[in-house]
Amino acid sequence: EPVSNSSLLHNLNPEQLAAVTLPAEHALILAGAGSGKTRVLTTRIAWLLQTGEVSPGGILAVTFTNKAAKEMMTRLGAMLPVNVRGMWIGTFHGLCNRFLRAHYKLANLPQAFQILDTQDQLSSIKRLYKQFNIDDERFPAKQMQWFIGGCKEDGLRPNAVVARDDETRKKIEIYQLYEDQCQREGVVDFGELMLRSYELLRDNDPIREHYQRRFRHILIDEFQDTNKLQYAWVKMLAGTGAHSSVDGAFQPTGCVLAVGDDDQSIYAFRGARVGNMADFVREFGVRHQIKLEENYRSGSNILDSANALISHNSKRLGKNLRTSQGPGEPVRVFEATSDFAEAQWMVDEMKQLVREGHERKEIAVLYRSNAQSRVIETALFNASMPYKVYGGLRFFERAEIKNALAYLRLLENPRDDTSFMRAVNFPPRGIGARSLEQLQDLARASGCALSDAVSGLSGKAGTNIGAFLAGIDVLREQTQGMSLRDTIVATLEHSNLLTHYKADREGADRLENLAELVNAAESFVSIEGFGRDAVALPVDELGQALTQSPASQGLDLNQPVLDIPAPDAETGETLSPLAAFLTHAALEAGDNQAQAGQDAIQLMTVHASKGLEFDAVFITGMEEGLFPHENSMNDRDGLEEERRLMYVAITRARKRLYLSHSQTRMLHGQTRYNLKSRFFEELPEEALKWITPKQSGFGGGSGFGGGASYSGAGGPYSERARGQFGTDYTKYNTAATAAPVPAQKETPGGLKVKQKVFHPKFGEGTVTALEGTGEDARAQINFPRHGVKWLALSVAKLTPVP
Ligand code: ATP
Ligand code: MG
Repeated sequence: EPVSNSSLLHNLNPEQLAAVTLPAEHALILAGAGSGKTRVLTTRIAWLLQTGEVSPGGILAVTFTNKAAKEMMTRLGAMLPVNVRGMWIGTFHGLCNRFLRAHYKLANLPQAFQILDTQDQLSSIKRLYKQFNIDDERFPAKQMQWFIGGCKEDGLRPNAVVARDDETRKKIEIYQLYEDQCQREGVVDFGELMLRSYELLRDNDPIREHYQRRFRHILIDEFQDTNKLQYAWVKMLAGTGAHSSVDGAFQPTGCVLAVGDDDQSIYAFRGARVGNMADFVREFGVRHQIKLEENYRSGSNILDSANALISHNSKRLGKNLRTSQGPGEPVRVFEATSDFAEAQWMVDEMKQLVREGHERKEIAVLYRSNAQSRVIETALFNASMPYKVYGGLRFFERAEIKNALAYLRLLENPRDDTSFMRAVNFPPRGIGARSLEQLQDLARASGCALSDAVSGLSGKAGTNIGAFLAGIDVLREQTQGMSLRDTIVATLEHSNLLTHYKADREGADRLENLAELVNAAESFVSIEGFGRDAVALPVDELGQALTQSPASQGLDLNQPVLDIPAPDAETGETLSPLAAFLTHAALEAGDNQAQAGQDAIQLMTVHASKGLEFDAVFITGMEEGLFPHENSMNDRDGLEEERRLMYVAITRARKRLYLSHSQTRMLHGQTRYNLKSRFFEELPEEALKWITPKQSGFGGGSGFGGGASYSGAGGPYSERARGQFGTDYTKYNTAATAAPVPAQKETPGGLKVKQKVFHPKFGEGTVTALEGTGEDARAQINFPRHGVKWLALSVAKLTPVP
């Protein structure tokens, strides 16, 4: 069967066809976004297999993400009856992992070696610092992490690094200690995966020759973002350069097809070298350089926007990109009054898109920084819209958040052993692993919770752990009568988490996330006047109920609802706001996460979106300082990389593209008033459509502080805006501790804080806090014999004690 008749080759333009059917030689495809680079790469693999040029085992294909690898295998599986699992398709790290698992003994690793992510790596370095008394001021751990990563990318082991001065000498020493520790523990970091597999190939002739012989075709997508070591690894496998043959006996035949776009190089900060493209052409003697100029993804409004934007960059290899799809939809631009309003608007647009028949997984939200996702996640969660967050942890799963939640859970339940173990020695308070083992043994022996076993612990261990528990008890007492927000602020303070992360030079992100936690608590309000019935409904029905009710005027639908179940019919006992908040956190971190394969809205950073495409794309937070990011907008290279990022973001959209920015944004614990991004000015006006409504609704008309719509200006949000605290954490702490106990609140029943009351079951107690009104009114009461309880006043039979 002649190849040109192959159905594989239908729907390829002449340039693509030429690339797919290239002779077995090295080649480079340099082309813009959406021009079919990845399609060509996939189709070439299929073509090579179909024509019998190579067997599945002879293919090595490198994708940028695991998701892309999966997609490629799915497509190949659909094109051909081959066992795709047998093919080596994956990311550099994934492939190296596979390689090292296959040759773990030669690589001198345990079979079940574990992989350290960036965070684990940092903690591992820090553990070393403690053990060897290394000065974190002189050699910040994060800097060491960069140093180690950099050395590994250059292929350098400690003994190969040149020690020009004392400082470098010390760093090399630490690098060596770190390596020893990793080896002892049987763990490898990301850089190590690459380097160790590179070294194994380099130093083991039979292994190298085996793979050089085996991989007849090596195909690499997103080549512009490869780093130095990855390039060397490819060279090694392809047999180009010093290790191509041993004694001239073996001539490797691996062909490399590299595919990339210099305008989409967005990982320079992580060591990516666009220069690898030019090196590749030179060192591999590339004769075939193919350009693809037709974009198949988007209409000209989107494409013109991308082209116009990127033309502001000076360092470019130069390519053309056109589309024959016609203008398509205009690029929609929306201005919100607040991040809340932005998220709410987005959810409404998504609902509309879904009604129009778009699948949820064809809708993506892109943001510049992970911190932006929380507000969006909350809005989606409240709208019962399934969503999936790619790359980066979901907000409530982040370590610092989990650490803080552990303390809060202990306030609610001292017998929560998981939280106990998480909090007891974090931040470190000198409680050793030995002591904790002892405690666990004790608890196991008597079948009780860890906190209950503490009394049986003697010596220093008992004293230390006892003090920790006593501290929690004191905090529980102190936070009585405090608002949820203040409880969290006090807990952060008491736990020393703030001090801990503040002392950590690299803890700024974590502090910001902890500030976000306070924001989250603050906006987590009970909806007064709705009654328990409303909040007891499932969330989507609740959303319905709220929209239909006149009482929803002035309510921000995006705010998490305090989902308090009906109180105990007999005693009136009800969930505390803290417990409700913790439930919310657990739910949001787990249950709402769309299952694999479920049709869900896709949330990710722009970095993570590379290579992907969606029917509809929202690029959010288009504000100065956010996008372009404040860390990069003041130097030219940085700004050009931001612009390439924006180019990547724009070119993800097939049909519809939204760009939004907000007048105010609660970020990093602070309300910011951001200017709209300079990138708007670099877009062609005729491609844009401004869709911000003039009248109330979501923004436009009401402006700052006006209007009672749920745009965020009125209602509970204004409280939130006023309750801001700066990034100055000292101020924040002072404000927190100085926060007055809500005093003199009166309920219809006439209860007051500090008043004594009598409950038929719990006896006499003192009111410590009051919340809500009408049907929803609740009181926190401290009963000396039964502890602190939250009671629903409409149910609980309380009588004032004079
Ligand atoms: P990026 O730079 O974003 O990674 P890309 O160059 O890899 O983009 P692809 O993802 O391969 O581009 O293709 C973009 C879209 O265009 C895909 O949906 C693909 O199926 C489609 N496409 C590519 N070539 C053709 C063609 N000749 N005819 C029709 N559609 C095509
Ligand atoms: Mg691609």
